[in-house]
Amino acid sequence: MIVLNENHLYEMRAHGERDYPYECCGLMLGRFVDARKQVVEMYAISNAREEEAKRNRFLIRPDELMRGEKYAREKGLDVVGFYHSHPDDVAVPSQYDLEHAWPTYSYIVMSVQKGRAVDLRSWEMEADRSRFIEEEIVSEARP
Ligand SMILES: [Zn+2]
Repeated sequence: MIVLNENHLYEMRAHGERDYPYECCGLMLGRFVDARKQVVEMYAISNAREEEAKRNRFLIRPDELMRGEKYAREKGLDVVGFYHSHPDDVAVPSQYDLEHAWPTYSYIVMSVQKGRAVDLRSWEMEADRSRFIEEEIVSEARP
């Protein structure tokens, strides 16, 4: 289960719509609390891929990931997950996403249709890395 608030959802959707028709991606920073992830802050980063590949793949450059992890550490937070958009496609992880994911983290995939973020689902990888399982998104009111 991943717990975030309406601001986080708004920021994510706005990022996906801003970067359309390209994929956007970012980190979710927060804390692991028992079996759930509590998001504290979203960390938007750019998509590292070449122009022509940007539409259907996402990849975070190692230096950008390191910068995000450093930023999280300084705030006493962990990277609890990643988000990215699927322009004109469904909010379901691709085979490529599965091959480039790690267990434990949450992966939010956003469907951005014609420039509007219409769907948003969260996924967690099975421990044997064979597939993603959908996880519940709990949206808390703003504190
Ligand atoms: Zn994807």
